[in-house]
Amino acid sequence: MADAQTPFNRPYTVGNELKYVAEALDHGQLSGNGAITRRCAEWLEQWSGSARVLLTHSCTGALEMAGLLAEIGPGDEVVMPSFTFPSTANAFVLRGATPVFVDVCAETLNMDCEQLEAAVGPRTRAIVPVHYSGIACDMETIGAVAAGAGAVVIEDAAQGVMASRFDRALGSIGELGALSFHETKTLSSGEGGALLVNDPELVARAEILLEKGTDRARFFRGEIDKYSWIDIGSSFLMSEVTAAFLYAQLEAADRIVAQRVATWERYHEGFAALESAGLVQRPLVPKGCRHNGQSYWLLLPSAELRDVLIAGLRERGIAALFHYVPLHGTRAGRRWGRPVGDLSRTDELAASMVRLPLWVGLPDAQVDRIVEAVSEQLSPTSVSTGS
Ligand SMILES: *Cc1c(COP(=O)(O)O)cnc(C)c1O
Repeated sequence: MADAQTPFNRPYTVGNELKYVAEALDHGQLSGNGAITRRCAEWLEQWSGSARVLLTHSCTGALEMAGLLAEIGPGDEVVMPSFTFPSTANAFVLRGATPVFVDVCAETLNMDCEQLEAAVGPRTRAIVPVHYSGIACDMETIGAVAAGAGAVVIEDAAQGVMASRFDRALGSIGELGALSFHETKTLSSGEGGALLVNDPELVARAEILLEKGTDRARFFRGEIDKYSWIDIGSSFLMSEVTAAFLYAQLEAADRIVAQRVATWERYHEGFAALESAGLVQRPLVPKGCRHNGQSYWLLLPSAELRDVLIAGLRERGIAALFHYVPLHGTRAGRRWGRPVGDLSRTDELAASMVRLPLWVGLPDAQVDRIVEAVSEQLSPTSVSTGS
């Protein structure tokens, strides 16, 4: 066999997952909205300060709920970065609205707030910041632009669990926020998500949409004697089995995040010299932002160098990845979306970025080996002549 392989991601389990799944079995309720779901929701409400947290089958589902709750419809425009996952746009295209794509900034790969002003118009109903790699967007500026336009802010905080901006949890700052517990995210239940309902006025309707448009939640609380179909909705629930798995991860959240952040910092320090030499650009964590170590990425001087680097790392058994194909250039993005400007900056950034392996349990020695491998790839002479 060749060298030890370093996968890009490796699912981490705390050890208590099966214990809580067994507890769910004992309760005799495996569908959603059971006792352990409530425990998870309370945990997340405590962390976020959100008026109500609803567990969903995915962040995609939570974003779709947000589109329904914000009453987005045909003719409406929803401003979002082009550099994001398709779910961010799908949630609103499903409502008949038009995603309006803006560039991202090179420092954070988050929405460019200067372009935001140009993107917003009389049809703008929502702004959807995406907190890329758990580093917060400029929520103060986004909030001010949204208020001026009469738009709501829906945070795609899929990568933002346990991260904050000026001590406010990501996902809890806009009217609505969506978290992901997908296998590749900081805390995971395989598939899973949560909707953070921060506007108390939306809580009652959110409960109804979650339960196929019925008032089943009130029925189970004993507030009414039968439940029925009263609004549109779908099945957005997380199963109790999944919630049990998730609860183990929530209990260990501080430790998981501390380990991810330590690995992130190790990369960051490791690449300081390369950045000084102008060979890479490292992510910038703006003042007041606490990230969660969701991912470590670098920008290379060109797309060619990036591709050569990824191929070179693969030869050494290191799985490095690029990320999103910007939505404005995709088949669906061209059909249903509208770009603001030519978004060439987004295309260049997406083509020149690389993400490195980061998971709980990734040994420091492997991180150092990856830093070395990247350094050698990018500056072979400077390495071979070292004292
Ligand atoms: C992962 C991710 C999603 C989708 O999350 P799921 O839980 O898999 O539905 C949406 N938006 C962003 C920015 C993501 O990173």
